[in-house]
Amino acid sequence: TAAIIDGKAVAARTNEETAQAVAEFTDRTGTRPGLATILVGDDAASAVYVESKRRTSVRLGMADFHRHLPSTASRDDVARLLDELASDDAVSGILLQLPLPESLDTTGLVDLIPPSKDVDGLTTASAGLLARGLPGLRPCTPLGAVELLDSSEVTLSGSRVVVVGRSELVGRPLAQLLLQRDATVTTAHSRTQDLPAVTRDADVLVVAAGVPGLIGAEHVKKGAVVIDVGIHRTETGLAGDVRFDEVVGVASAITPVPGGVGPMTIAMLMRNTLTAAIMVSEPQQ
Ligand code: NAD
Repeated sequence: TAAIIDGKAVAARTNEETAQAVAEFTDRTGTRPGLATILVGDDAASAVYVESKRRTSVRLGMADFHRHLPSTASRDDVARLLDELASDDAVSGILLQLPLPESLDTTGLVDLIPPSKDVDGLTTASAGLLARGLPGLRPCTPLGAVELLDSSEVTLSGSRVVVVGRSELVGRPLAQLLLQRDATVTTAHSRTQDLPAVTRDADVLVVAAGVPGLIGAEHVKKGAVVIDVGIHRTETGLAGDVRFDEVVGVASAITPVPGGVGPMTIAMLMRNTLTAAIMVSEPQQ
């Protein structure tokens, strides 16, 4: 059976390294990296995510700038707040928690975050830098998936990697990150014909489809590495896009849900916030 890739342990190690680097940064500059989180409205899940990001940033020694706007906030209210945080030197990174209330133009507002503070890596500018292979801040969940592969010493260069999903948040940037690592990348999506034939070609299979239990033993080549990005609340707890009990008998390594990619996402947000702070304090780098 497959080795279980322990995302909780890798995230904890990554956070320790970030805390160490934050302490060094603070000693050197006399300032702390600062993370501004913005929550618009009262979505319960979003509130929990934001709380968890703030708590982790404080634990790692960062300054916490949280703003909560009511669900009735206008586009201008959010835009004004983003402008204010963009010009505040104490704020290294700005995170606009998604989803926004439906009345608001998400892309237009996200794009008001300057690329140097875009710690979620979701602005059009950051996406362009990634597509071009230029330095910039990258989306956290794709970074986390790649970090887990690296922590398991999975060879990416030359390997056949299949990414299931092409969202702006996960699948698309992930495929681009993997391409930068010289993997042979295939992107599968909801219009892909004969998905099992495509995924069975993969040495490394990363699944971010948002469909519970989409991937079973019939989709996986013997000995492949499987990374499950999906998260779903079920009656028995959290579950992923991969039928873990089946695939664990076919893969050589697999991430569990929970405890796989999930914890990595916040760890990468923390690292991005530190990186953003360093980029401002040492712009020549
Ligand atoms: P999304 O719905 O925006 O995109 C899903 C993608 O999967 C689309 O590109 C679609 O074409 C593809 N897809 C859908 N059904 C498919 C099928 N039957 N076969 C092949 N491809 C199919 O979702 P997303 O935002 O990319 O998130 C994907 C999953 O990852 C969700 O379960 C989400 O909850 C989870 N997620 C986890 C984290 C984390 O921190 N671990 C972060 C973000 C998202």
